[in-house]
Amino acid sequence: MAHPKEERTVVLVKPDGVMRGLVGEILTRFERRGLKILALKLVYPSREHAAGHYSGSDDWIKGMGNKTIETFAKYGIDVVKEMGSSDAFEIGKKVQEWNVNYLAMGPVVAIVLEGMHAITTVRKIVGNTLPILAETGTIRGDYSIDTNTAANVDKRAIRNIVHASGDPSEAEHEIKHWFKADELMSYKRSDEDVMFS
Ligand code: ADP
Ligand code: MG
Repeated sequence: MAHPKEERTVVLVKPDGVMRGLVGEILTRFERRGLKILALKLVYPSREHAAGHYSGSDDWIKGMGNKTIETFAKYGIDVVKEMGSSDAFEIGKKVQEWNVNYLAMGPVVAIVLEGMHAITTVRKIVGNTLPILAETGTIRGDYSIDTNTAANVDKRAIRNIVHASGDPSEAEHEIKHWFKADELMSYKRSDEDVMFS
């Protein structure tokens, strides 16, 4: 097992974040927390590349559909009326297509971050998937007010500014998907000696 301070994760500043000029603000939040930037680039993804970012497995698609069904129930919205189906897999496939449209609509900043339990730490900084539920102080909670009830009625993905890997296997897939091995840099941050030795 890698040392907890060497965990790696992928952040994407999605096209809404780039087009709204939020790249610097977003990077600052990770840097000041002590996360190390190992790789960074601006990419205008093709639809194929955007699609390959998400696992696309049947379970993943079904999970996405189930989350959508749950939120609709919570807000008393008729899922069949809005999504044309009550089947988790069918709904998940629709959300997946919207995700591809979203990621491929403009440039994305792809970042690999390394640091103490980076996956969990970064997801805390990023906040809840639904910006309307994200705590103030998180990236999604400070810069977006979107919700999936509105997004689904408008037939689009939730505009939530950033992506962050959900678990180690997602992180591994995403690092390889966005970067070649030699694009990841190895160096020491000046605070490492003070913090970790
Ligand atoms: P997270 O990005 O927080 O890990 P998920 O992995 O569950 O969230 O979903 C991936 C992305 O798909 C979300 O960031 C969001 O942009 C979009 N999304 C998820 N569920 C829906 C939905 N019901 N309707 C529209 N877009 C959705
Ligand atoms: Mg996710």
